Amino acid sequence: MKHRTLDWRNRRSWLGSLRFYAGDLLDPAMRRHLERKRPKCWSDDLSWLPDHEELVPAFCDKLASYYSHAKAFHGCRPENIRSYYEHGLQGHQADRIQARFRELFSDVAPDQLQKAIDELGNRSTSEKGKIWLTGDDRKMLDDFGHYSINGSEYLLSLAARLTRFDRYGEDYRWRLREIGVPTVLEVDIPFALIRPGQQAEVANMILSVWGQNVTGKHLGMDLSPCYVIHGDIPADCIKDHYHPERIRDVHREPGMYVSTVTQCEMCA
Ligand SMILES: [Zn+2]
Repeated sequence: MKHRTLDWRNRRSWLGSLRFYAGDLLDPAMRRHLERKRPKCWSDDLSWLPDHEELVPAFCDKLASYYSHAKAFHGCRPENIRSYYEHGLQGHQADRIQARFRELFSDVAPDQLQKAIDELGNRSTSEKGKIWLTGDDRKMLDDFGHYSINGSEYLLSLAARLTRFDRYGEDYRWRLREIGVPTVLEVDIPFALIRPGQQAEVANMILSVWGQNVTGKHLGMDLSPCYVIHGDIPADCIKDHYHPERIRDVHREPGMYVSTVTQCEMCA
């Protein structure tokens, strides 16, 4: 299979490529129909497409056989970036995060730490082995940059629990901002690692954007794909990384996190 990467940020490119793999589905007759009817081309309800029940799965198959990879971004706050380049991205491992939690908060009573872990028990199993990524890094830093500010969501939740037990004491969450470096990893995910349901969501978003372009009726929604990978992503899929300087901060005033570290030993 030829190496082709779907980069969601480069809309002009993926819209232009549609004719190479889906020209027979999204043909001139279809365009004329949409230009005439001008429906609202939603991504979560594709009934605006004629024969959508057959067309959408067929389009999804073509998309998945055309692209070998999807470019995606992973926000994190690693203490050791090199390990990503050596071992790849590893799915959520609760026991490792719990061990780090105990180290970072070793000054807190062990029974309090255990209580925080116990209360979040289900969460550590439901997220097991998963990795979250998104198709647009700029949007990520605006909408959910907290992974780059605080690191692991699970670790943040554990620290938040601890803060609740100690209501008048320290807000333990801020301690997570003193370790590691805010980082965005650029990853080319092999399309085969993306679950069928998420491939279908991307296909629907592409059809929606294409439809809005054809009808000229823009819905004003700025969608971007989210990928939840179940399992590890090999190191050779990591194409680059950078350290964002400004990240929107939903947890703390004034709402903009400014990072002072924008270089690391692994920066090219
Ligand atoms: Zn770096």
